[in-house]
This record gives sequence, C-alpha cells and structure tokens, in this order.
Amino acid sequence: MEKYLSLAVFILLFSCSKDEDETFDPNEPKLYTLPVVVHVIHSGQAIGDSINISEDRIKEQIESLNNDFRRKTGTLGENNSALSDDSYIQFKLAESDPDGNPTTGITRINFLKNKPNNTDDIQANWLYKLGYWDPENYINIWVYGGFRPKENLGYATLPTADLDGLREEIQVNSDGIMINTHHFGKSTIDTEANLGRTLTHEMGHFLGLLHIWGKEESEHCMDFDDFVEDTSPVTGPIFECDEIPLSCIGEPAPVKNYMNLLKDECMNTFTQGQIKRMRFVLENSPRRKNLMHSNTISR
Ligand SMILES: [Zn+2]
Repeated sequence: MEKYLSLAVFILLFSCSKDEDETFDPNEPKLYTLPVVVHVIHSGQAIGDSINISEDRIKEQIESLNNDFRRKTGTLGENNSALSDDSYIQFKLAESDPDGNPTTGITRINFLKNKPNNTDDIQANWLYKLGYWDPENYINIWVYGGFRPKENLGYATLPTADLDGLREEIQVNSDGIMINTHHFGKSTIDTEANLGRTLTHEMGHFLGLLHIWGKEESEHCMDFDDFVEDTSPVTGPIFECDEIPLSCIGEPAPVKNYMNLLKDECMNTFTQGQIKRMRFVLENSPRRKNLMHSNTISR
C-alpha cells in the first residue's frame, strides 16, 4: 500500500494541559465562516491549463471542504456516525483583498518570474514570499505545482492555543496550508488522493487537530495521543477502509476519520471531540480567533 509521505505538521510544542471548553452546543451552534485566499503557484501556463488550475476547480474544492466540515447530506461528507456531527465551521473565498479592493479570493503567481533564492529549504520557508495575505484576516492556501503527484500531498501550520499538542509561539511567517496541485480538488490523475480531501485533512491540522495516532507513529499502543477523547487510540495510519481493525482499547478504529491517512473516497468523519477542539481554537487561538471577525467576506 502506498505510503503517504510528508503530510507533515510543523514542530509540535507541548503546552500545559487544559480540556476544551463547551463551545459546541448542538442545539444552538454558532456558525463560523472563515475567509480563505488561494494562491495558485504555476510556471507560466494559461489559466485552466495544467497546474494553473481553473477557478471552477478551486470553487469546487472549497465546496467540497464545506461539505466535509458541515457533514452535508447527499455529499461525500455525509456520515451516520453517532460520534460525529456538523462542525458549523465553513469557508468562503475572500471578497476583498488586503487593500480593500474586490477579489475572487484567488491569486496566480508565476513561480519562474518570482523564484526565491533558496528553494532547497522546505516550502514553508519561501512559499509565503510569493504571496501572503494578512493571516489575521485570511487563511492562506498555497496550491503548489512544483511537486510530482504523490510526492508531497500537503502540510499545514498548527495554531497557537492552550491545548495539549499545540504550539506555544505564534507562527510569524508562512502561517497557512500548502496543497500539492495534483491533490487539490478533483484530480484526473491516477491517485487515491483525488477528491479534495487533502485540504480537509490539512484544514484539520490548521485548526488544531493531530493525526488519530498523535504526534508520531508508535510500535506500542497508547504511547501517543491526539488529545481527543472520542477518537479511539491507534498506533499509526490505517490504509484499508473495507475492514475496520480494532483500536488499542478494542473498539473499532477510527478508520474513516479525516485525520487518518486514507484514500479520499473512504474519509467522512470528524468526531464531536475533534469539532470541539477546532472550535476551541477558533475562540481562543491568538491568530485564528480573528478570522471569524474578518470583514473580507460578507456573512
Ligand atoms: Zn497530516
């Protein structure tokens, strides 16, 4: 089975222990709508050609992201798990740019004309130099065409928050999400990450979720933790979606969870515990909490 490499999150720093508060009341949910900007990094192609992906594909990807986060009936994001729910978190392409001018929420940057001096370093250290909107007001998503398919699906920066497993210091530069172009939105290439779920997974990281097995894989059960109570503990990614193995404590493993690494067609679940954790981040993280107040989109 193909091994997914480099769906990496940045360095995890442990902060003091604190439980998520009750920000999620299913009877009176507060709806968070968060602005995103998509920076398409290409190498001179016409719009809609190859890695300079079309506006339709980008819009379709944001819709798919919303279907997953809102657990929309009749979409791939639908599930009937008693552990899951609608997160009441959704996303919208920005409508005004940092200067206050109207925008599609999409920028297009020719990498060859704007190439930074040192591209040997990880992309996070220079991608933002090509395009970076104020992270207090936008979720920056770089759609990068410099990788081959399956080479590196994506990564995201974790937020700062008073929760186990998250960072203590704010990410000064390059806060956002990178998605390999070949795995952004619906892809026609031969890959199991072909339905836009890479962004769902990385957005989970961006809002404070770890993988279901925690910080790193382990040979032993219970060595690591994702700090979410209703994701039954496992030692590493589970790649098969047809047979559900047992977790470390004898429960069905959370195979279909978006924070597992599974082929796109099999993912469909955030648990209520994960939803609470993301909503806690949106209420409390120094940078993330500004996103719900950003006036760059109509609400
Ligand atoms: Zn990941």
